[in-house]
Amino acid sequence: MRTPIIAGNWKLHNNPEQTTAFVEAVKAKLPKNTKVETVIAAPAVDLDALRKAAKGSELHIAAENCYFEDEGAFTGETSPKVLKEMGIDYCIIGHSERRDYFHETDEDINKKAKALFANGVLPIICCGESLEVREANKQNEWVVGQIKKALEGLSSEQVAKLVIAYEPIWAIGTGKTATSDQAEEMCKTIRETIKDLYDETTAENVRIQYGGSVKPANVKELMAKPNIDGGLVGGASLEPDSYLALANYQD
Ligand code: 13P
Repeated sequence: MRTPIIAGNWKLHNNPEQTTAFVEAVKAKLPKNTKVETVIAAPAVDLDALRKAAKGSELHIAAENCYFEDEGAFTGETSPKVLKEMGIDYCIIGHSERRDYFHETDEDINKKAKALFANGVLPIICCGESLEVREANKQNEWVVGQIKKALEGLSSEQVAKLVIAYEPIWAIGTGKTATSDQAEEMCKTIRETIKDLYDETTAENVRIQYGGSVKPANVKELMAKPNIDGGLVGGASLEPDSYLALANYQD
């Protein structure tokens, strides 16, 4: 059975003080006994505060990005090795904002996935099509292409452990959620792709999130779909009460 995973992606929001206050507000009310795995992805400058505040709680910690080298002359980058040393569990890679604004390529994302596994941090690999691609009805081949390139050279054991987040770009921050059927259809396509690339067991184990205007009002419907194992949530993860409503969607 796949454990549902509700992850907040704060993007470029919050400072260390706000981070600590957020964790203090949510930590006693998170789902217990691994019923739902909860994660917050924060800017690199907040990760130390997040880790300290979350210590001993159910909250897992994610970085929003990293580089594919552990160290060297790479000004401004974040080391996957140091993420591991800091006790960070996950790292988002390939978010559409990184692809669009920072020109990240599928090749970079594949290198980052390998660097994270080499250091024992689990990648949350984002994929998703633009409105233009969806309107041309080419979303399946687009996303399947992104997945194939991101996973190139990874073993079935690695793929079974990582998380994939399907985030259609037209649904991010727009209030325009994909319908639960559209989200389910793509998550199913991704799982079938993994079955074709690897095997049935790997496909059954990999967790696939939907992201794009997930909020307390629609989380239950999305999570009821058989191939949707979680949410990657931007705006609605910033307020403690809203994040708690998402994390406790089963109650
Ligand atoms: P919103 O939930 O704000 O639409 O953002 C989704 C997202 O990009 C999460 O990574």
